[in-house]
Amino acid sequence: MIIAVDGPTASGKGTIAKALAAHFGLPHLDTGLLYRAVGRQVFLDGGDPDDAGDALAGCTFPDSLLADPALRSEETGGFASRVSIHPAVREALFTRQRAFADQDGGAVLDGRDIGTVIAPDAQVKLFVVASVEARAERRWKELRGRGDDITLEHVIEMIERRDARDQGRSDAPLKPALDAVMIDTTVLDRDAAIAAAIEATERAADDSGHQD
Ligand code: C5P
Repeated sequence: MIIAVDGPTASGKGTIAKALAAHFGLPHLDTGLLYRAVGRQVFLDGGDPDDAGDALAGCTFPDSLLADPALRSEETGGFASRVSIHPAVREALFTRQRAFADQDGGAVLDGRDIGTVIAPDAQVKLFVVASVEARAERRWKELRGRGDDITLEHVIEMIERRDARDQGRSDAPLKPALDAVMIDTTVLDRDAAIAAAIEATERAADDSGHQD
């Protein structure tokens, strides 16, 4: 069974994808991490993330980079969002993501275009949303917890900028697949969001006739 979990930044999709993987005993791929690694590699190379050639060169990042804590920073998230606009970058990362989805027994993948581009054949597609304010507050608390002295207003600005870029790009824009189930986590705490996602997954898997 392939489970696709898409949604904007800080919507809770990563937490939900991880919990679904644990619940259903499936491997999980955070595809945003791949784009973050490309963005980080471009930065380390002194390249320009808005330049298609520099961004494509960043796709040859070493696997060890995936464990770099710097990948989690807001700065790298911004770089990731910029390199992800280039079709050549998306194409370069496609095979790796598709191979992960195709493994025996299935997988959970989270990102922006899993249900629309990477695995349009997924039995379960969830699209996780939340208000900008709720997402910004979560991200702000997370960043403050890591010692980052950033204001809530600045986090709101960064999230709005990232949303606009992810939704506005011509190649694989962030949008729900027609058959995706929407999960709004604005007023849900972690446990309630996970419970809603498990229930939606079981229902969607039943509807698709999945046997496992
Ligand atoms: O999910 P995360 O915030 O780690 O993703 C970082 C950036 O990578 C996103 O803002 C988006 O631009 C890009 N991305 C993408 N397609 C995916 C996953 C992430 O374009 N499947």
